[in-house]
Amino acid sequence: MSSPAQPEIPAPLGNLKIQYTKIFINNEWHDSVSGKKFPVINPATEEVICNVEEGDKADVDKAVKAARQAFQIGSTWRTMDASERGRLLNKLADLMERDRLLLATMEALNGGKVFANAYLSDLGGCIKALKYCAGWADKIHGQTIPSDGDIFTYTRREPIGVCGQIIPWNFPLLMFTWKIGPALACGNTVIVKPAEQTPLTALHMASLIKEAGFPPGVVNIVPGYGPTAGAAISSHMDIDKVAFTGSTQVGKLIKEAAGKSNLKRVTLELGGKSPCIVFADADCEYKSLASVSPSSSSCLMMSPIIWSLAVNLAVEFAHYGVFYHQGQCCVAASRIFVEESVYDEFVKRSVERAKKYVLGNPLTAGINQGPQVSIIKKK
Ligand code: NAD
Repeated sequence: MSSPAQPEIPAPLGNLKIQYTKIFINNEWHDSVSGKKFPVINPATEEVICNVEEGDKADVDKAVKAARQAFQIGSTWRTMDASERGRLLNKLADLMERDRLLLATMEALNGGKVFANAYLSDLGGCIKALKYCAGWADKIHGQTIPSDGDIFTYTRREPIGVCGQIIPWNFPLLMFTWKIGPALACGNTVIVKPAEQTPLTALHMASLIKEAGFPPGVVNIVPGYGPTAGAAISSHMDIDKVAFTGSTQVGKLIKEAAGKSNLKRVTLELGGKSPCIVFADADCEYKSLASVSPSSSSCLMMSPIIWSLAVNLAVEFAHYGVFYHQGQCCVAASRIFVEESVYDEFVKRSVERAKKYVLGNPLTAGINQGPQVSIIKKK
């Protein structure tokens, strides 16, 4: 089976203008109640890209009011056909496709993500995720349950209500779409807090959400810091659920805040320490080797050439696992176990491979690795 054709990768936008820097509530742009803004940094140059309105508790309160109103029985959102919710999500995916170059450039500029990866992998994944969720909107149903007597028993699946969504900096757009897509398909309203390092693509998405025609208050976006805006979401008495992706440490705080407030539902997607295991017979049947030796069905029968290619392939995948997006992935293969008989060769080739990495500005063609998203400078 051949894999689907990937789109051509264009050059990133040369002269990106940041248009949206305010808090998005009720389909309108707001200054922060406190009047504060915070700087958004380009990690490749450490220059300030722009200043963004800094939301905190007062802004979260405003966003929750808007989201609650949009969720009221009888509101446009609640009376909308499920298929129409799906159409809006599809429309949003189409608008992302239209603005794909701009969004990928912004993701690389603000997050230090290699542009080609942002364009192909992040944007491609976001658009597919939204379309996937769009397809679910009118296929979420309950059950009828056979019962004795003159009784009709059934279940319905209903939206939870107002959902707070707190996302990290490593996949700003992907996390954004993974959070809003399912929640909106099911008929919830949301307040999203992007990571303080990477709020720009979420704010551009706000403009697309309005353009797509989502009713006011259905999606609200409050940029700001974790201990202020984030904590206001997790402890809010009128938020029904909080979904969080980020560190285990903050995940614990969120669960605690939810428990101490209104016992809101919580979903946590936290960090890991993922292992990559390389056996001596690794990948001897991998399809890319088939062209070299279609009959190599047994590792024991591997020729030295195939063996050598297999080790290279294992090195390649292990590197991909640990270095993708500068190692800033929750599933980064940060521990590698190698079977003893290939250990020395694996290490030798691994070192050679690492030396070939080209580091640089993520908007420059031909680089493999950009900067870390942020650094803590020692005083
Ligand atoms: P973090 O948990 O500090 O930040 C993630 C989000 O939580 C941000 O939006 C932040 O503003 C918010 N936040 C911070 N403090 C908060 C609080 N008290 N209340 C509510 N929200 C708060 O994560 P980080 O420092 O950016 O990343 C550290 C680690 O998190 C990584 O090393 C990785 O292991 C893990 N991580 C996991 C994923 C994943 O996809 N599972 C993604 C990113 C990071």
